[in-house]
Amino acid sequence: MWDFSTEPDFQKKLDWMADFVRDECEPLDTLFPHGGDPYDVTNEASRAILRPLQERVKGQGLWACHLGPDLGGPGYGQLKLGLMNEIIGRSYWAPTVFGTAAPDTGNAEIIAMFGTEEQKQRYLQPLLDGRIVSSFSMTEPQAGADPKEFTCRAWQDGDEWVIDGEKWFSSNARYAEFLIVMAVTDPDASPYRRMSMLIVPTGTPGVEILRNVSVLGERDDLDEGIHGYIRYNEVRVPLDAMLGGPGEGFAVAQARLGGGRVHHAMRTVGLCSRALDMMAERALSRRTQGELLGSKQSVQHMLADSKIQLDQFRLLVLHTAWIIDTKPHGSARSSIAMCKVQMSRVMHDIIQRAVHLHGSLGVTSELPLASWWASVPQLALADGPTEVHQGTIAKELLKTYTATTELFPTEHSPTRLAAARRKHADTLASHGLP
Ligand SMILES: Cc1cc2nc3c(=O)[nH]c(=O)nc-3n(C[C@H](O)[C@H](O)[C@H](O)COP(=O)(O)OP(=O)(O)OC[C@H]3O[C@@H](n4cnc5c(N)ncnc54)[C@H](O)[C@@H]3O)c2cc1C
Repeated sequence: MWDFSTEPDFQKKLDWMADFVRDECEPLDTLFPHGGDPYDVTNEASRAILRPLQERVKGQGLWACHLGPDLGGPGYGQLKLGLMNEIIGRSYWAPTVFGTAAPDTGNAEIIAMFGTEEQKQRYLQPLLDGRIVSSFSMTEPQAGADPKEFTCRAWQDGDEWVIDGEKWFSSNARYAEFLIVMAVTDPDASPYRRMSMLIVPTGTPGVEILRNVSVLGERDDLDEGIHGYIRYNEVRVPLDAMLGGPGEGFAVAQARLGGGRVHHAMRTVGLCSRALDMMAERALSRRTQGELLGSKQSVQHMLADSKIQLDQFRLLVLHTAWIIDTKPHGSARSSIAMCKVQMSRVMHDIIQRAVHLHGSLGVTSELPLASWWASVPQLALADGPTEVHQGTIAKELLKTYTATTELFPTEHSPTRLAAARRKHADTLASHGLP
């Protein structure tokens, strides 16, 4: 049975969320617009506004909806989460207000899945409560898309792990209470068993943030961004700082990345629908040559193409969520990769049209469009570049096919015609046909 309807009770929650995000979260986007603002737990003014909003979200039973009841979330499942994230994705601050901000969501999930009781007590609960933020420290300056190239090392010395090496683009490291670091612990093991995860409190001696890298569209002064370029100078942590077992770094990383990608895609649906709302308003409000922009066929094409792309993408994302909810673990691998590839493309096309339709105003910092536009390339890179996911999709697809042993392809017309003639030889002959 295929069904695209939403339960009325759940729709009421979505309606509450839509009003709340528009009235309470979007104003925070304009008051505190910089990339790191939602994560800066030391900014007392933003926290004074944020905390009561988080309480209201908790009061509605909508806090940390990516988590199951065992971890204090309502456990709605991915499909409902998809519908919620479409609303949350319209505001930069909303994920923090709703307790679903990356990378803390993924970090919380892996601590819940792989952490010891002590690690959960120390890191998980404050993270789930939104009292602290965390950072995931995996990418290195010389290697990103292929973790097998990582060189940051950790070795055992007495009852401590010693970490030495560099990490690049550890988002929010400057605000983080702790870093989850992927390090090579056994260089001689097979490629996928070489690395382990270690939890490192940010204040540990030897953790040196070389600079905080900013991205396209942010201020370009050095050290003004949120992505930490970190040097671990023989940083010492106790043996029980390991998250998961030795050699399980890959498995732990994989556990957090799939969910993160699809949640990003859900929020991208929301952001693109906000851009489409802006285009529609502009088309109905701006006049040229005696008529509204929306009367021009070329503008209608822009609106139509945006709506088609958005709805196609939305269905892909929700279908992926449905597969995660209903099929065995791993079944959504290819679908998640498809969402990941398509999200930056759809956002590219829709935001580009939205900027264009707003003319000179569209490229200014007086509308959010220019900063959304600047974030498009990030979507194609963060959580792995497009090409890596295209590889996954193609490999999964090819698993469902077999090679032909014939000289020509199965669809070769002369071969098929000969086969059809053999199949119906008697009938054809009785009608005087070859
Ligand atoms: C906004 C943002 C936030 C991020 N946050 C974090 C974070 O918190 N923690 C963290 O550890 N990392 C983070 N990253 C890093 C991210 O994981 C890497 O950017 C990503 O894995 C790609 O690695 P790279 O940047 O080194 O690019 P590279 O690996 O150098 O790849 C560059 C290009 O090479 C090509 N390429 C690479 N591999 C292949 C392939 N297999 N086949 C074909 N072409 C290929 C692609 O065109 C790719 O875009 C973040 C990145 C961004 C943009």
